[in-house]
Amino acid sequence: MLQRLREHVLEANLDLVRQGLVLYTFGNASGISREEGLVVIKPSGVPYKDMRPEHLVVTDLLGNIVEGHLRPSSDLPTHLVLYKQFPEIGGIAHTHSEYATAWAQSCKPIPCFGTTHADYFDGPVPVTAGMTDQEIAEDYETNTGHVIVRTLQQTDALANPGILVASHGPFAWGKDARTAAHNAAILEAIARMAYFTLGINATAQPVGSALLNKHYLRKHGKNAYYGQAADANKNEDEDKR
Ligand SMILES: [Zn+2]
Repeated sequence: MLQRLREHVLEANLDLVRQGLVLYTFGNASGISREEGLVVIKPSGVPYKDMRPEHLVVTDLLGNIVEGHLRPSSDLPTHLVLYKQFPEIGGIAHTHSEYATAWAQSCKPIPCFGTTHADYFDGPVPVTAGMTDQEIAEDYETNTGHVIVRTLQQTDALANPGILVASHGPFAWGKDARTAAHNAAILEAIARMAYFTLGINATAQPVGSALLNKHYLRKHGKNAYYGQAADANKNEDEDKR
């Protein structure tokens, strides 16, 4: 079942390792088949080097296991909340990558200090509010999804393909699982750059709206012209300026 999606989601999980975003079995990526309403997600606790497509777990949007012998990632309920809330997303990646997690632990949004950031996010990378004791005690992973949704409110999720969960770490998403993993790597890179920017100049200011909009809209606006026309939003290694 969903063999191609299993292989794609496995590669997305391995992308997180290849990009140095995960330690041990931390982190998880998933993808969804919208036609079938089924999610493919990493199993819990299986070392990446041993992971095969058949180890991935298929669930419905309620979290019922449809196929698979292993337990799904414990963060599955967070992924499900996001898939239900944001029909435009097709993949999600969660890591504890160092710099993005450091910002999350500081409970600070990442200001948009430059064009690398503006190419992907149409403003600061948001950080959620802290969770209440009750939200943590009961249905913690589901409530993690709800706190993300509350923070994003009605924004277009693809215009802000990631978020920092306060005192926890980053979640990223995209049109599919590998794009989500790509965005997790970009989020880590811009978190790192922002950290260094403030180290060099503690009073550095975010870019103005002219530069932010120029960079964001030339890749994502309706008149996007970056890349090769229809491929302007494609997940690819690009010649950054
Ligand atoms: Zn986590």
